[in-house]
Amino acid sequence: MEKFIPDEKRLRLVEDNYKAIRERVENAALKAGRNPNDVRLMAVTKTVESAYINKALALGCNLIGENRVQEYLSKKDELHLNGVEKHLIGHLQTNKVRQIVGEVDMIESVDSYKLAKEINRVSAVKGIVTNILIEVNIGREESKSGVFAEQLEQLLFQTAELDSIKVKGLMTIPPICSDEKEINQYFSTMYATFIDIKDKKIDNIDMDILSMGMSGDFEVAVANGSNIVRVGSAIFGERKYF
Ligand SMILES: *Cc1c(COP(=O)(O)O)cnc(C)c1O
Repeated sequence: MEKFIPDEKRLRLVEDNYKAIRERVENAALKAGRNPNDVRLMAVTKTVESAYINKALALGCNLIGENRVQEYLSKKDELHLNGVEKHLIGHLQTNKVRQIVGEVDMIESVDSYKLAKEINRVSAVKGIVTNILIEVNIGREESKSGVFAEQLEQLLFQTAELDSIKVKGLMTIPPICSDEKEINQYFSTMYATFIDIKDKKIDNIDMDILSMGMSGDFEVAVANGSNIVRVGSAIFGERKYF
C-alpha cells in the first residue's frame, strides 16, 4: 500500500476547526449556565484518514466516535489512542458484535433487546462489561434506527437484567431541521425523556450520559442538557465517501 501523505493545509484546518469548536462548546455551556467541563466534545472520525484524527488527538481531544466496525478496526493501529475513549456510534448489526466488543469503551447505538443480548453474550465470553447507550429515535423517522420514546422503558428494564452490559444513558440523532426552533423542540423533548427516566432510578441503569448534537446543531444540544456532542465535518471538513 502506498504511504498516505497528509495535506498540510488540511492539517492546519483541522487544528483551527478543533480549537474553534472546542471554544464554541465551552461558550454554549457557559451561556446555558453549565460547567464547560460537563460537556464532552467527541470527534467523529468516519471516512477521515488517521493523520487528521491524530491531529485532533494531539490537540487534547480525548473522545472519538466511529460509525463502522470494519473502518475502526482497520484504522485503530495508526491512531494515538493513549488515554482516548472510543465509542461506536453507528448502527450495529448483531453479526458484527463479536468484532467490536472489547475494542471500544462504549456502544452508543443500541436500539433493540436482540442487539443488547448479543453484546451481553459476547461481553460475558470475553469476561468484560460493555458500557452502552440506548439510541432513541426522537423524530420517529422510518429511515433512522433507535427506539421510540414509548418503547424505551421496556428496553431499559430488559437490559437492566443483563449482567455484562451497563446502560449509561441515551443517544439520539434528530431529524434534519430547517430552523433552530424545530431542532430545539426535539432536543428539549429528548432532555425531558432523559430526566424522566433518570428520576425513575431503575436498578442497574445509570442515566449519566445524554449524547446529542452534531456539527450543525451542537450549541442547541448543549443548551438542552447534552453532555456529549458528536462533531465530524465541522472539525475535519466535508466527508468524502469512498
Ligand atoms: C456522522 C455522525 C455524526 C457527526 O456528523 P457531522 O454532521 O459531520 O458533525 C454524529 N453522530 C453520528 C451518529 C454520525 O453518524
